[in-house]
Amino acid sequence: LLFVDEKNSIKFYQDSMLGQLSGRLNLESKLRRAISKQEFILFYQPQLETKNNNIVAVEALIRWYHPAEGMISPGQFIPLAEDTGMILEIGDWVLHESLKQLKKWENKGFNNLTIAVNIAPQQFQQDKFVLKVKELLNKYNVSPSKLELEITERTVIKDVEYTVEVLNKLKFLGVKISIDDFGTGYSSLEYLNRFALDKLKIDKSFVHDQSNLNIVRTIIMMGSNLGLQVVAEGVETASELEFLIENNCKYYQGFYYTPPKPAFEIEKYF
Ligand code: C2E
Ligand code: MG
Ligand code: MG
Ligand code: MG
Repeated sequence: LLFVDEKNSIKFYQDSMLGQLSGRLNLESKLRRAISKQEFILFYQPQLETKNNNIVAVEALIRWYHPAEGMISPGQFIPLAEDTGMILEIGDWVLHESLKQLKKWENKGFNNLTIAVNIAPQQFQQDKFVLKVKELLNKYNVSPSKLELEITERTVIKDVEYTVEVLNKLKFLGVKISIDDFGTGYSSLEYLNRFALDKLKIDKSFVHDQSNLNIVRTIIMMGSNLGLQVVAEGVETASELEFLIENNCKYYQGFYYTPPKPAFEIEKYF
């Protein structure tokens, strides 16, 4: 098979290129279908206090159940959803669904929960993002302080002045902000002071790796000194939890307590 490249010269397709392209087109059309057929559900994973396993928040994590192929993990389709812009529609659905779920839990008497929702860069960059969040909080009658938006360094470094402005508006609204996967991006530490943040989530890659424990210690101290809550992600073992307690990390999340599960299973832990 022949194709014309960016420099207008004719090239042969390598088998592997064709495979990649059709794999991607295939996934893209399946993802489009998934949106219209509502093939997504949310799983939830608690954030806990290290000292007593008291649940302080629950993170919503999307899952895609393809009728034939079964579960497709967000690591596989969120990047594609971001590239194609489909993340806006998917992200809206996630916000609706997670606020609806939080309200259901409140109505069952679970009153002290916060819901954490992952927000992709393009969602955050939407003109009316703050207004949208405000309207959704009204619609589901959820107090702003019970919503926590998880953004990454990728989101905040795009346009620092704009980020400062949006974060200030969100803070004014009363919504909480966390920096997810902290330590894996390429942003400057300066923003920690400039941005209205509430929480740092230490990326799981640091928490797991013995040789990175000095980094974990440093992030815990720095976060606390800046008045931020610090959550360690990806805690899988008792000794990892032990280490966090010894180093005054107040919050954690991970398989050690429970992997993400559907709402009806997670509420058994409340
Ligand atoms: P994240 O926001 O950093 O979420 C934490 C990920 O770590 C989740 O993967 C969770 O299942 C996994 N995890 C939790 N505890 C452990 C542990 O102890 N060990 C290990 N190895 N992993 C653990 P998941 O659910 O596959 O999601 C992957 C990423 O996809 C998320 O990372 C987030 O960046 C993105 N994502 C998930 N749901 C959404 C969504 O609704 N919207 C957007 N924009 N992104 C999402
Ligand atoms: Mg997250
Ligand atoms: Mg993370
Ligand atoms: Mg992430």
